[in-house]
Amino acid sequence: MQKTFQVGSKTFVLDQDKAEAAFAAKKVINGRETMTFNLLPLKYQWAYELYRTMKANHWEPEDIPMGKDIEQWRDDRVVSDQERWIIRMGIGYFSAAEGIVGDNIQHVIRELVTAPELKLVLGRHAHEENIHADSLLYMISSLGINPHECEAMFEDVDTIVAKNQFVTRISKGLRRDLDLTDPDNKKLFAKNMFIFGQCMEGTQFYGLFGMILSLYRQNKFPGIGQMFRYTLRDESNHIELLRNLFMDLVEENREIWTEDFKEDLRATMAEGVQLEKDFIKDCLPVNAVGLVLEDFLSYIDYIADRRLEGCGLAPLNPGISNPLPWLAEMMDIKKEQNFFEGRVTEYQKSSALEVADDDDL
Ligand code: FE
Ligand code: MN
Repeated sequence: MQKTFQVGSKTFVLDQDKAEAAFAAKKVINGRETMTFNLLPLKYQWAYELYRTMKANHWEPEDIPMGKDIEQWRDDRVVSDQERWIIRMGIGYFSAAEGIVGDNIQHVIRELVTAPELKLVLGRHAHEENIHADSLLYMISSLGINPHECEAMFEDVDTIVAKNQFVTRISKGLRRDLDLTDPDNKKLFAKNMFIFGQCMEGTQFYGLFGMILSLYRQNKFPGIGQMFRYTLRDESNHIELLRNLFMDLVEENREIWTEDFKEDLRATMAEGVQLEKDFIKDCLPVNAVGLVLEDFLSYIDYIADRRLEGCGLAPLNPGISNPLPWLAEMMDIKKEQNFFEGRVTEYQKSSALEVADDDDL
């Protein structure tokens, strides 16, 4: 079937069958080669919509004031060593982890998927990891923490090393020439998406998110807390992106969805949960400042089960309830409070202050 379009003096003939064949050839993996990057016609509508949502959430670290944080960091009457330790662990872990995620998105997942709209949203994901890594650099320099110290934590804190090895062991071997017609490799790729999206970003990020936001809730380190809230909002989109991608990959390659594979994924999550619990114990050697170790440990069980269910997998602790309900509220930054509007309010506040100063004179 052919359709003819007249544009000015030119005639363009659309071969409907050819267009439909191109659409049908769009796939998560093993689709048409897409060097030309034709987004249209969209097949993975969710990917384009998510790209737009992510773009609308854009933020830049240096627009968040750190003055109060710097003041508090130096004042022993305001913050304890235990609280400083949590911030140090947060900075130590995330400065490495954000880069690891970004690298895997860019050099494994984005390389191996074939549909252009998937590459589009993955490009945005990788960029957001750059923003997160940059926000840590900004926190480190604002607080005057020795940068070598962060590097050392990444290499010397055993529970951080273990978490990082857990994810990189499935990243290094999967690079662009992987044969994705082989079902074993398809499983490896699906597992990579699952580990990064659901185990790492979806579960192993949440111990520290919870602790840092709980300090923020007590008005401690407001700048750092704000940055972690923006980061967390981004992470929820990353988790959703990798979940959708995983589900579509499985849908298009049903042969990999075996009982053995499902059990393998559940066991992988269980391993990730254990590593996160060990790490949380390092972050919270004593119950302090309203942070109860036991709550954070069972929060990880709770969140891991939500991730498993999101991927159509059976939970590890059925019926477990959320021990930290306030956290869900704190994580939910409403659309209206988005970054740019927040910034406008800041500007209004500062100009209002200037007027007041003039009046004083
Ligand atoms: Fe991130
Ligand atoms: Mn992320």
